[in-house]
Amino acid sequence: MKHRNQVFDNVLDLVGKTPLIKLNKIASEFEGNFFAKVESFNPGNSSKDRIALYIIEQAEKKGILKPGDTIIETTSGNTGFSIAMVSIIKGYECVLAVSSKSSADKIDMLKTMGAKVYVCPAHVSADDPRSYYQVAKRLHEEMKGSVYINQYFNQLNIDAHYNSTGPEIWKQTEGKITHLVACSGTGGTISGTAKYLKEQKPDVKIIGVDAFGSVIKKYHETREFDEKEIYPYRIEGLGKNLIPTATDFDIIDEFVKVTDEDSAHTARLIAKEEGLFVGYTSGAAMQAIKQLGEQGTFSENDTVVVIFPDHGSRYMSKIYSDKWMNEQGFFDSVNVEAAQNIEY
Ligand code: PMP
Repeated sequence: MKHRNQVFDNVLDLVGKTPLIKLNKIASEFEGNFFAKVESFNPGNSSKDRIALYIIEQAEKKGILKPGDTIIETTSGNTGFSIAMVSIIKGYECVLAVSSKSSADKIDMLKTMGAKVYVCPAHVSADDPRSYYQVAKRLHEEMKGSVYINQYFNQLNIDAHYNSTGPEIWKQTEGKITHLVACSGTGGTISGTAKYLKEQKPDVKIIGVDAFGSVIKKYHETREFDEKEIYPYRIEGLGKNLIPTATDFDIIDEFVKVTDEDSAHTARLIAKEEGLFVGYTSGAAMQAIKQLGEQGTFSENDTVVVIFPDHGSRYMSKIYSDKWMNEQGFFDSVNVEAAQNIEY
């Protein structure tokens, strides 16, 4: 990628090479040095630009995609936005099956970016014909000349991060990284980044972040799919009700579970303390650091990198709305009136 003060051929030239920004306040009570890889600096405002561009360019290289072909995906919003953006520049149709849990803002944005959007119920099992997986699969089978990105089960998702996020973090920390903390949805970010980092330095600790209501942490510990772990939760893009093959469970050292409420408050705190307006899963990842910090996980010379996957503007009607926070009961532990002007 060119330097930012140069002229670019198109928006895709700006994918990747995101900044690593020191966190000066939010983790200051803990030993160690903390840095955020701020993925909202991608042109589509999330880490998913990397996989959309990489997977589509790999398909082009293999001669699978021709101009005018259709790209299909299931998405919580971010991947859809990135695929829509890449499709516009490269001349493809973009069809997206999204979860009804995705914010209205995200769905409107996808439509603005020219995508055809199918909204599917969030709380049905993955093999239910109404689930976004099954809808995407059916559309792919019905549409000639379509490519199904299938990010949860596509090895190229891992490769995209192995080839970009991993080397960037290694270079930016000058090899000093000791811990990587990243949310796991498809698992592509954590698995690909970890693979690169562990090749350079095998003792880098890889910490995944999972939601209460998701099976991922339990599966990591037992290698068994425990349905009892599954129940509805609010964080979008984190955790799962199935086991994605884009997650390399062997490369991850441990998982930390975080709650919807703590993650929402911590996202708000990141804005207040660091001036970084980031998404719900960034709050979740930072919350995991707080929990680990409180257990005394980090020491003075550690270099901890946390990935902030997307931008806060996508959550205005959710965690950045006092009304929404109130409705979820997330202000119950504090006086409601005070909560409107809450000081963190
Ligand atoms: N945060 C957000 C907002 C996301 O959309 C996703 C992807 N579902 C993730 C985190 C997790 O990234 P990955 O899929 O690479 O595990």
